[in-house]
Amino acid sequence: MARILIVEDNAQNLKLASVLLRADGHDVVGAADAMEAEGALGQALPDLILMDLGLPGKDGYAFTRELRHREATVGIPILAVTSFAMKGDRERALEAGCSDYLTKPIDRLDLLERVHRLLGLTAPTAVGAERNAP
Ligand code: MN
Repeated sequence: MARILIVEDNAQNLKLASVLLRADGHDVVGAADAMEAEGALGQALPDLILMDLGLPGKDGYAFTRELRHREATVGIPILAVTSFAMKGDRERALEAGCSDYLTKPIDRLDLLERVHRLLGLTAPTAVGAERNAP
């Protein structure tokens, strides 16, 4: 179980990501923008940050760059989540300091595979597969 901060201004996307990550056993904190995220970071540092790149006010690229310049947050993996499916967005996200990149709509296994890899956990199994394991 990890502490995960989700920075996402779209309530439905925030809810979906929160549900999926909580179901995977994680402690999830949501923030609708960079300012709210700063408040959450002041409370406790997360093990991973899900970063929507399109945020009102300070966008996810600028916020990621800031976090990469802070001693407290420089080492926290940041998974960019965005509906920007345009060519070059992945590169832009990685350049800003994101660790990996995920496009919306969020796919459960795609999300968990990336989250687990960034947290250094084993890959997720398909729904129900755990029950059939020896
Ligand atoms: Mn957004």
